[in-house]
Amino acid sequence: MTRPSQARLDLSALHHNVALARELAPQARLMGVVKANAYGHGAVTMARELEPRVDALAVACSEEALELREAGIHCPILLLQGVFEASELPIAAEAGFWITIDNDLQLRWLEQATLPKPIGCWLKIDTGMHRLGALPTQTTSFYQRLLACGKVADLPVLSTHFASADELHNPQTWQQIELFEAATAGLEGPRSAANSPATLAWPRAHYDWIRPGFMLWGNSPFAEPQLQADRLRPVMTLTSAVISVREIAAGECVGYGGSWQAQRPSRVATVTIGYGDGYPRTASNGTPVLVNGRRAALAGRVSMDMITVDVTDLPPVAVGDPVVLWGEGLSVGEVARHSGTIGYELLTRMPMRTPRVITAD
Ligand SMILES: *Cc1c(COP(=O)(O)O)cnc(C)c1O
Repeated sequence: MTRPSQARLDLSALHHNVALARELAPQARLMGVVKANAYGHGAVTMARELEPRVDALAVACSEEALELREAGIHCPILLLQGVFEASELPIAAEAGFWITIDNDLQLRWLEQATLPKPIGCWLKIDTGMHRLGALPTQTTSFYQRLLACGKVADLPVLSTHFASADELHNPQTWQQIELFEAATAGLEGPRSAANSPATLAWPRAHYDWIRPGFMLWGNSPFAEPQLQADRLRPVMTLTSAVISVREIAAGECVGYGGSWQAQRPSRVATVTIGYGDGYPRTASNGTPVLVNGRRAALAGRVSMDMITVDVTDLPPVAVGDPVVLWGEGLSVGEVARHSGTIGYELLTRMPMRTPRVITAD
């Protein structure tokens, strides 16, 4: 007896998405972003699959990077937020991690550190996100200090991060590109700016390294159709099955708080998946759910272990029938829009309770 709720992970979709990123930015090197447990997909499994296909990986912090090293991942791993204290630096250098330098304090830690070997550095410039990074006017002095400290392997990579690249008509991305190019003009070294939306839709921002995360998992970062994003294939399909079907009279309510009321005699299917399995409790009545491959509508509040779906308009539904919550045939972004969030959050929040099952077809 196994509960049918699973997050199926299609590795061939991952390979396809990596190939698409390569095709879109053929002259750039590719850094696969696997922070936050590879956006809920499983960092070690995904990193093993990515390592032969990318030039480097990126995570948020040393703990995430060490987990990958302990699992036998050998490629360079960038710490996207750099280090949180000076004592991490020798460990990071020894382990072959690359660090981000965001500010004067991190730079001073590096200048004062004793390292077993030189360390790869990415100098981050704040071109408008206003979260991390040196001011554009500090770029040259930070860059020179990195060269002068004698602890940096190769030339520093000059990087920045976009605030609104997922909005195809937002002029902020152009402003950030212009500021980035002006701030780094005349400095030698590779450049990097592109997250997933910029990899897909802002070729001017590809430069020497692209850094996609979300698109590798096969979902569009855009709210609207986009030529390249629509070629992605979802890696994760969250599946479950019907465990009960009942007829209810018009006027009856379903689930906790009776938040959905039948407007006609209705058939309701109960599915064994809930917020304890990563399906968002905020999903509203009407959120699409695939039952036997057909779209039906969530009816009633999401419970910890179950949801209820209005299948009145579907051909007869039976116990054991397959259900897809998102993935193949239903994008996580669409479910997220019905839940007041984005696909990134739904994937990243997937709890360990939900078994990850590898498929490769
Ligand atoms: C998370 C992150 C990325 C990847 O962003 P996606 O939108 O998931 O592609 C790239 N660069 C930095 C600095 C990040 O923090």
